[in-house]
Amino acid sequence: MPRPEATVPPGVPSAGRPAGTTADDLVIAGLAPLSTCDWPDRLTATLFLQGCPWRCGYCHNHAICDPRAPGQVAWSGVRALLAGRRGLLDGVVFSGGEPTRQRALADAMREVRAAGFGVGLHTGGAYPRRLAELLPLVDWVGLDVKAPPARYDAVTGTAHSARPALESLRLVLDSGVDVQVRTTVDPTVLDDADVAGLRRLLADLGVRDHVLQEVRTVGVRPEYALALADVASGRDGT
Ligand code: SF4
Repeated sequence: MPRPEATVPPGVPSAGRPAGTTADDLVIAGLAPLSTCDWPDRLTATLFLQGCPWRCGYCHNHAICDPRAPGQVAWSGVRALLAGRRGLLDGVVFSGGEPTRQRALADAMREVRAAGFGVGLHTGGAYPRRLAELLPLVDWVGLDVKAPPARYDAVTGTAHSARPALESLRLVLDSGVDVQVRTTVDPTVLDDADVAGLRRLLADLGVRDHVLQEVRTVGVRPEYALALADVASGRDGT
């Protein structure tokens, strides 16, 4: 169940509010109306929000990274879905892309909570200040921590990505919000010592729930698939 929080009724007029900040402004690339795997032990609807500032090699959905791409799902459709799923869904997970990139996210979360659903968030922590504003609206976070600091930019393809990610981790841990930290191990960048170092770092920082995930090969760019094949053949000695 969602934690108690002051609510805003659905359909609050957008007049007088800055552009891009109401739930109806959310740019949604896709919707999974029923998911069992996006929030542990919860049945959710999961929204995939458009845009991401990072360029991980293993990203299996490049189309979702472009912040200029138009949405494919209207918030009004999400609202209608939730109205018909009361008592059937535990919550809504906002995923991406990088969902905290969009300023409309807070309003959408408030609306979801007001409708009686829990709020889950998948984030890589690229925008810690926005995350700090969102955490009071969130019941559970799936936080990607992609690498030990020295290897972060090599995984994200983006300069200076470790600092916001680790700042976000600290914010989440300090908030007390339920969190699972996830690391998709990029074998083209990280070796076993990197992964062991990251696990030690996370344990030292107080992370209690950390899961390692394998990269998926489906949907990745051809050059990354080749790099993966090179790593695999090196390990096989072929
Ligand atoms: S953070 Fe996620 S959405 Fe963004 S590039 Fe990396 S894998 Fe893709």
